[in-house]
Amino acid sequence: MVTPTAAPTELPTAATRVGRALLLHCPDCGGGRIFSHWLRLKPRCPHCELKLDRGRPDHFVGAYLVNLIIAELLFASILGVWVISVWPAVPWDAIEKVAAAAMILSPLLTYPFTRTMWLAADLIFDAPKASDR
Ligand SMILES: [Zn+2]
Repeated sequence: MVTPTAAPTELPTAATRVGRALLLHCPDCGGGRIFSHWLRLKPRCPHCELKLDRGRPDHFVGAYLVNLIIAELLFASILGVWVISVWPAVPWDAIEKVAAAAMILSPLLTYPFTRTMWLAADLIFDAPKASDR
């Protein structure tokens, strides 16, 4: 079990917060293991006790939207490169099956990253307060 530590004494830079978020760590203290499983963020950071939903029940609605946009843009980009690289002999049957699976899987794969990135962006624009712990 990890013993909670005090909140960071200095505010991390925006780049530090984003880097930590991309590693799926707490954007505020850098501590890891903030997910109870791939799709579920713990209520508080186990290291600095930061409320990971910032105490707002609808905090991650934006993360859901950003996740969907990023996942589908990534999917469309890969599909476009695939079609262009094999043109004109495009294997439409294979693309149909892969595309259906990718449309379901890509948001699930990118979800934790967009969730921590959304938290990092929120912390950049609205620094944590004492009430966030
Ligand atoms: Zn933390």
